[in-house]
Amino acid sequence: MSKMERPDGADDRYPTAVTVDDFRSNIAAVRARIDEAARRAGRHPHDITLLPVSKTVPTERVRVAIESGMRLLGENKVQEAVRKHGETTDLDVSWSIIGHLQTNKARDVAAFAAEFQALDRLRVAEALDRRLQAAGRSLDVFVQVNTSAEDSKFGMPPEELPTFLEALPSYQSLRVRGLMTLAILTPDDQRVRECFSLLRTLRDQAREDAPDLIGSGELSMGMSGDYEIAVEEGATCVRVGQAIFGARALPDSYYWPEA
Ligand SMILES: *Cc1c(COP(=O)(O)O)cnc(C)c1O
Repeated sequence: MSKMERPDGADDRYPTAVTVDDFRSNIAAVRARIDEAARRAGRHPHDITLLPVSKTVPTERVRVAIESGMRLLGENKVQEAVRKHGETTDLDVSWSIIGHLQTNKARDVAAFAAEFQALDRLRVAEALDRRLQAAGRSLDVFVQVNTSAEDSKFGMPPEELPTFLEALPSYQSLRVRGLMTLAILTPDDQRVRECFSLLRTLRDQAREDAPDLIGSGELSMGMSGDYEIAVEEGATCVRVGQAIFGARALPDSYYWPEA
């Protein structure tokens, strides 16, 4: 066990945010590091959105976070997102589903989500499109690619991306915004960086081969432990949970089960 870990598995680097001021100062600190990473890479800080990820955080604290100014929140599990959406309908907030989706949950996502970042199978695209058509809605989507070649990560293999993108225009209620990935979980920054640069290369290739299929070509990549590297490699959206809300006790393997 490293010094950073507590016996319950939570990470000491990330104290729990409770008050509006806690949230404002955590957001400001993360934002400052994003901006610095952007400048290091010769990018404009304004080109990078920060998506706060509220998974496992109880609704009481989520409401404080919304009060502090957050307007879009990321959730990994559909059921948890549905519940929190229902508990915050009096507030001005939208929801981004960033985790793997089973086709039987497509109806829930179609009903309330503002975006879906983990599209990796045509069956899911089809199920979402059908529900969205019925509801008269459309949905922004990111195609998830497995850039780490780890079995435990969701997302399609890079070589399948071009064919997948070609199939998506048939699902007219889906608006492709770009690509999403999770880097390999390792303290080796170089290997993390390679995942992010692979996603950028795939995006650049798609833009060259079939620019109409990749939307604005956004890159959603980077989490609490690696968002600065992601920004240096071209991220346009970083998904940050623990560095804003506080450490999670649940291990990452709960979200990315071993194969
Ligand atoms: C939880 C999660 C994040 C954020 O991870 P943190 O370590 O809390 O920053 C990002 N992306 C996905 C898909 C997640 O499930």
